[in-house]
Amino acid sequence: MKQLKKRIRNIPDFPKKGIQFKDITTLLSDPSSFQRAIDLMAHRHFHEGIDAVVGVEARGFIMGAAMAYKLGTGVLLVRKPGKLPFRTVSATYDLEYGKDRLEIHADAIRPGMRVIVADDVLATGGTMAAVAGLLDKLGAEIVECCFLAELTDLKGREKLKGRKVFSLLKFNE
Ligand code: AMP
Repeated sequence: MKQLKKRIRNIPDFPKKGIQFKDITTLLSDPSSFQRAIDLMAHRHFHEGIDAVVGVEARGFIMGAAMAYKLGTGVLLVRKPGKLPFRTVSATYDLEYGKDRLEIHADAIRPGMRVIVADDVLATGGTMAAVAGLLDKLGAEIVECCFLAELTDLKGREKLKGRKVFSLLKFNE
């Protein structure tokens, strides 16, 4: 795990002062690190009857698609507003300044569908809380919220209380 952590590049003060940005491109571009990370995130779910993996735009698509391929499921997309062509349902959530919105196709989820939701980084948890709320509304059973990395100091798990949360790599800054 130490080796995988080292593959994530820390960029201080990006995109603005005070943020320690976890650049995952350096892990993704290394074949054995990418493969190992996805294997470790996916293998725990092999016999859990997962129906689909949900990926959150944009880096969550990479995690979600690779995990879905590994698990032999489909991948469902949660996208920024205006990107999905069919009828959508959406969730609005708070950002540091202002609000944002995420959407999913209204027919993407069958009630009772067992899903994993994947994203790259758990920071404040606002994004995943909004996505999970959206999936709840559509009747999905969320088996796990799964992240490549977690910024533990930001206490994102508190926004996801009552949900199963897994992160492969933990950073305390
Ligand atoms: P949050 O809603 O605060 O948990 O933020 C989650 C989303 O923002 C994730 O999809 C990440 O891609 C991105 N993000 C937030 N903070 C960071 C960070 N320090 N480094 C890299 N990505 C981040």
